[in-house]
Amino acid sequence: MTYNFCAGPAALPQKVMQRAQAELLDWNGTGISVMEISHRTQMYQDCTDRAERNLRKLLNIGESHAVLFLHGGASHQFSNIPMSLLSSGAQAEYITNGIWSDMAYNEAVRFGNIHHVKALQINDVSGLRTLKEPETWDRCEKPVYTHYTPNETIEGIKFNHMPQTNGALIADMSSCILAESINVNDFDMIYAGAQKNIGPAGMTIVIIKRELYERMNFDTLPKLFNYEQQDKKGSMINTPPTFAWYLAGLVFEWLLEEGGVAKMEALSIQKSSLLYNCIDEDDFYVNLINPKDRSLMNVSFRLKDDNLNNTFLSEAKEAKLVGLEGHRSIGGMRASIYNSMPVEGVQQLEAFMRKFKSKYG
Ligand code: PMP
Repeated sequence: MTYNFCAGPAALPQKVMQRAQAELLDWNGTGISVMEISHRTQMYQDCTDRAERNLRKLLNIGESHAVLFLHGGASHQFSNIPMSLLSSGAQAEYITNGIWSDMAYNEAVRFGNIHHVKALQINDVSGLRTLKEPETWDRCEKPVYTHYTPNETIEGIKFNHMPQTNGALIADMSSCILAESINVNDFDMIYAGAQKNIGPAGMTIVIIKRELYERMNFDTLPKLFNYEQQDKKGSMINTPPTFAWYLAGLVFEWLLEEGGVAKMEALSIQKSSLLYNCIDEDDFYVNLINPKDRSLMNVSFRLKDDNLNNTFLSEAKEAKLVGLEGHRSIGGMRASIYNSMPVEGVQQLEAFMRKFKSKYG
């Protein structure tokens, strides 16, 4: 069995893949694939209704919030959000703590007035990354919205609290949605690219408080970027990413069967602790995130002797542990352990890391 630790597109639950395989050529007795069926059929509509219902159940989402299943990546939202909310000189606030929140910030400044809160501190000598305490942040008094990234996928750094704001709170949960308990009512908008904890790439889920439409200006936006229209049309202004949506629905069913988000959170704590404990035992492996800010989803590490990185990766591959390369921007290693990574996969990685250490340490 090969265990895939890729940060995204990431491993999908084996049971889901087996079910998709079993019904790939003949979906619900139609004799054709779900990929070949019109999104306007009742059968496909039932499938997407079920997916939405199950997602609402998993995250306890009430009717105050719409759930949209949109084309494209989370990065589309980097533009769609400021384009919708930054008209008439309003100011927004972006809290940055790593590479993806920086990307969101850099895109937003193209559209208007942005206040930048730099929440990340990097120690010049050790390289240790720490999230500054919110009391020390330089805040914007009246932002129309505050954007933040609860889990930074590349570095593996996470906020353990939600920022307070006078504006709308918007979170990029691409790499932590459905793995940690949240209260959706605390957020005006949550978005997440599908390819980590939801399904295959090509779709982004947006959970948006309907009241937020009143503060949005859609006049000059392309119709497909209009959240309110997408809501009215059931995310089907045009042909939706039908296969990704169907598969996400299977993942939601699997999550419910497995015990839901609270169970996933407990497993995430268990899985990440196995790896962090192994890393912290001595200085053979190094993790450069302050322990209080470590991600439950993306465990980044390097070897004290950087020359061994490639040996580690190739021997891991021989042991059927793949996708462990760190992001190209920072190198090293990263084990992404989203919901579909079983505890056994993490145990195998831990055992491999210990064996590698005794061989080369
Ligand atoms: N935000 C975060 C936190 C991410 O991890 C990623 C992708 N790794 C993105 C945004 C961008 O997603 P996409 O490639 O779907 O645009």
